[in-house]
Amino acid sequence: MEELNLTSYTNQIAEKLATYKAAGKKAFVSSSFQSHSLPLLHIISRFAPEIPVYFLNTGFHFPETMEFRHVIGDRFGIQIIDVSSPVSKAGQRDGQGKFFFVNNPDHCCYLNKVLPMEPVIAQHDIWINGVRRDQTKFRSTLQEEETMGEGKLRYHPMLDWTSKMIWDYRKEFNLPEHPLEAKGYLSIGCMPCTRSFAENQESREGRWAGMSKEECGIQTEFVKGSSDTKAKQP
Ligand code: SF4
Repeated sequence: MEELNLTSYTNQIAEKLATYKAAGKKAFVSSSFQSHSLPLLHIISRFAPEIPVYFLNTGFHFPETMEFRHVIGDRFGIQIIDVSSPVSKAGQRDGQGKFFFVNNPDHCCYLNKVLPMEPVIAQHDIWINGVRRDQTKFRSTLQEEETMGEGKLRYHPMLDWTSKMIWDYRKEFNLPEHPLEAKGYLSIGCMPCTRSFAENQESREGRWAGMSKEECGIQTEFVKGSSDTKAKQP
């Protein structure tokens, strides 16, 4: 793809958001509030601040992430809505009393990420998701728009953005940094499943280290035709 500048990429997203709005489509964004998530949230705040931002509050996040999302919400003026699993933490342990993330992280992600996302999707037409092709093998196969059934779409506006573009945008708009980045965390999710760069040398390896797992399920479960990550039943 021909290299376009950040303004061109940003304008393309703004145009797409305007198109959805003109068509009466109801959109939402999901975000994990990592530093690399911020350009998308900032673009939303500039061009479509009425679009709600959903945060999957698994109950296992770092305190720094819980605080950082409030910092970003206040600074960007975006509406952040927490969603949590309908299954209580008491119901998220195996026969040995261990949380499912210990031996069955797919099922833990299903309970804490996939299940709570279902009613959110049901209420909207468009799911705006900031995945990038250069993040995982699965994401490299995605299209800018993916059908989810029932006329719903996932829109991936950042798909062709590179790490450098993310960095350049953050620098241009002086966006803040997730506080754990300075401590060596480059890919930040739930505490039990995240390792710092000092412990793992590749950024995505900072998640589910030592396992073949690369996705939490919300990226794969809801794309029509995908069957990469079906939650294992305990
Ligand atoms: S990332 Fe880990 S703790 Fe979080 S929902 Fe998935 S398995 Fe559970």
